Amino acid sequence: MRPVVHLLPKVKHRVFSGHPWIFSTEIGSVDGAFSPGDIVEVRDPRGRFVCLGYINPESTITVRVLSREDRDIDEAFFKERVRQAVEYRRFLFGLSGSFGDDPGGYRLVYSEGDFLPGLVVDIFAGYVSFQTLTLGIDRWKETLIEAVNEYVSPKGIYERNDAPVRRLEGMSLRTGYLGEPFDPVIEMDENGVTVLVDIQRGQKTGYFLDQSENRLLIRKHLAGKSVLDAFSYSGGFGLSALKGGASGVLFMDASEAALDLARAAAGRNRFSGGASFEMANAFDALRDYERSGRKFGAVLLDPPAFARSRKMVESALAGYKEINLRAMKVVEDGGILCTSSCSQHVTPQEFDDMLEEAAKDAKVSLRVIERRGQRADHPVLSGVPETEYLKFRMFQVLKW
Ligand code: SAH
Repeated sequence: MRPVVHLLPKVKHRVFSGHPWIFSTEIGSVDGAFSPGDIVEVRDPRGRFVCLGYINPESTITVRVLSREDRDIDEAFFKERVRQAVEYRRFLFGLSGSFGDDPGGYRLVYSEGDFLPGLVVDIFAGYVSFQTLTLGIDRWKETLIEAVNEYVSPKGIYERNDAPVRRLEGMSLRTGYLGEPFDPVIEMDENGVTVLVDIQRGQKTGYFLDQSENRLLIRKHLAGKSVLDAFSYSGGFGLSALKGGASGVLFMDASEAALDLARAAAGRNRFSGGASFEMANAFDALRDYERSGRKFGAVLLDPPAFARSRKMVESALAGYKEINLRAMKVVEDGGILCTSSCSQHVTPQEFDDMLEEAAKDAKVSLRVIERRGQRADHPVLSGVPETEYLKFRMFQVLKW
């Protein structure tokens, strides 16, 4: 018998309208013995079946939904879900063969967006970066790896289970090759540019694929411009700008390792002439440029998530406002500002309102060129606002 989770009466349960999370505050009782990570059945206050999911009382999201059908949750279930995720990417990118043969990068599985909460699988030129971020999904790790091997025939797999969120689930951190080792610095094609992905030491899974389309999009608007790529990481945006004919790009990041990757990639693309690199805190550097009157034809801002919880939103917005205000001041009149936020807890509305305030303080008008989010291999589910985390805006900055 499966343990049964009873939902409290008189609570607005989002799970009834398709949401994949059940919070501890929504649960009345649990019948039956269970261990964290076990599959449970969820019933409404009248005792009717709602869904199946996995439980972890250590997490405020106590149950994550796996299926709304009353069925076996077994190896076949998880393999089928991975297969569906692969099918969706084939459809998105028009691929017919194995991802292992493709020189580009894709997110193959993205957690709730693929109905596999807690699982993240990225493909970089045929190599896989693999993460199981919740206890409930980590239990099925072997099966999930088997499915990835079966459906995409990767050249190699690296486990990136060093995300600190695993600790909140009561798990330890671990990394390493799953199978044969390989050179962890992978050369990958992105929109006709060579980028370098350090699958072992790079940030998160190794490379930020969610911005891929946005990197291509900026290209046609930056020809001839001097560009500041602030928070550049391994250089994805700036390299694309150079491909599009930017007169020069200053790559800036607080991490020397990130800049080393950007520098090496600039060399591989023969872009070195137009590229310069500065290890700095972008907040300080922008203030210095403002004081000294240094201007750029375009500024690209792509900071890390400033808000890790809803409680941090206010201070995060203050940080976003500060950095955007400074960027607006160092863009030439008529120049371009591309600005992003990957904080899941900051809504698109809050982000846009913050930008408007910054523009007012900087005494500029922002003419909207693009308003976008993450690429569709990081699926957004309607009715699940938490899946829509990336905000990307491109503006022309016009002085009052
Ligand atoms: N634009 C990148 C992704 C940026 S991720 C891309 O397209 O791939 C955020 C980056 O900001 C990280 O590389 C991190 O090292 C850097 N960073 C964090 N705080 C910073 C700061 N205060 N100043 C400069 N860089 C910072």
